[in-house]
Amino acid sequence: ISSVELTQAYLDRIAQLNPQLNAYITLNPEVSLAQARAADARLAAGKAEALTGIPIAQKDIFCAKGWLTTCGSKMLHNFVSPYDAHVISQFNNAGAINLGKTNMDEFAMGSSNETSHYGPVKNPWDTARVPGGSSGGTAAAVAARLCAAATGTDTGGSIRQPAALCGISGLKPTYGVCSRYGMIAFASSLDQAGPMGRSAEDLALMMNVMAGFDERDSTSLQRDKEDYTRDLNKPLTGLRIGLPKEFFAAGMGADVAKAVEAAIAEYRKLGATIVDISLPNSKLSVPVYYVLAPAEASSNLSRFDGVRYGYRTPEYSDLADMYEKSRAQGFGAEVKRRIMIGTYVLSHGYYDAYYLQAQKIRRLIAQDFTEAYKQCDVIMGPTSPSTAFKLGEKGDDPVQMYLSDIYTIAVNLAGLPGMSIPCGFGANDMPVGLQIIGNYFDEARMLNVAHQYQ
Ligand code: GLN
Repeated sequence: ISSVELTQAYLDRIAQLNPQLNAYITLNPEVSLAQARAADARLAAGKAEALTGIPIAQKDIFCAKGWLTTCGSKMLHNFVSPYDAHVISQFNNAGAINLGKTNMDEFAMGSSNETSHYGPVKNPWDTARVPGGSSGGTAAAVAARLCAAATGTDTGGSIRQPAALCGISGLKPTYGVCSRYGMIAFASSLDQAGPMGRSAEDLALMMNVMAGFDERDSTSLQRDKEDYTRDLNKPLTGLRIGLPKEFFAAGMGADVAKAVEAAIAEYRKLGATIVDISLPNSKLSVPVYYVLAPAEASSNLSRFDGVRYGYRTPEYSDLADMYEKSRAQGFGAEVKRRIMIGTYVLSHGYYDAYYLQAQKIRRLIAQDFTEAYKQCDVIMGPTSPSTAFKLGEKGDDPVQMYLSDIYTIAVNLAGLPGMSIPCGFGANDMPVGLQIIGNYFDEARMLNVAHQYQ
């Protein structure tokens, strides 16, 4: 099959299913097919790489030259990017096809995809349920076979939680492994790009394209290029799996616990040994995150002022009025909530009490992991406390929504790599995700651990 035929087959399937799922915000069939023709020429010339000609979807947080790039917001409803994010140019260089831009929570703030200005995404397993978020469009697109694989970003769980809720695999790499250049910033000390796909093997191939040093991102790490597929087939004999007692306590649904425990039993059969560990400060990760992430967001989002690009209110009296009205009309409720919290915790008189305190606890959370990795090679637990919930179920209760990320957030605070792989089904026959957390730069081992189970 040629890349043009493959791309056309995906485009046809998208035309058929996307009106119902709302996984894609923007499609550009002519551009995708032109890329496919170029890929076919490259394949014919014998200059192909692993992903040459493969149709990939891109989360709408990545700037792609000539493509509408909205970040799920009205604020960027008319923003056509004049340049490519590093991740996008890596895929272009590899000869991959950009199939389209996927829906997401507004500015990646959310766990259900319901904060998108472009409407919620539906979970392909049950369209009355959410796909998770913020990379919900990507997760639904992969699960419904509307692309071969896709990109996501993860600030507090936005790759792993939707992967779990849609029954696919997703990897958040170590902070600094994938460049954030051209990836619209939410909370810069936490944001990481990563792949989402059907298998660990696909994620490894995606990582080979996405990872690597880029001098345009000051947090990009200068490391040798790795082949993330290199360890996929290693046996797991002797692997030490740490189970944090805090993850297996109250809060996790009985259905999720059952599926995760069955997966761990499977790992024992594959030769792994189980070690009981503790992450005593992990219970503080949600409150710490909801100080730090809004603080950084309030600063990052100050650039959206209606002056240079994006939404501008049609009627205003003077400059200050234009700023106020553009931001009041351009941002949704959750984004405004974060900006207000962030501005508050950074303000004079409260900085020491909130922001500084949260930074100190963040360090303690990271130290817990360092201690744990003296006893084990990987850590496992649930990705999310429940399977996919109903659309609208948590929409008006931000605290309930924030608790969706209770198992994923500590990983971002520590800068560690984490992934989610499908491990059976729970309540309402919806998929359950197993979370695998690795030590810094241990992505190849995590992919090995995932691949052996799959
Ligand atoms: N759900 C979390 C939030 O709303 C995490 C989002 C993310 O990882 N981008 O902030």
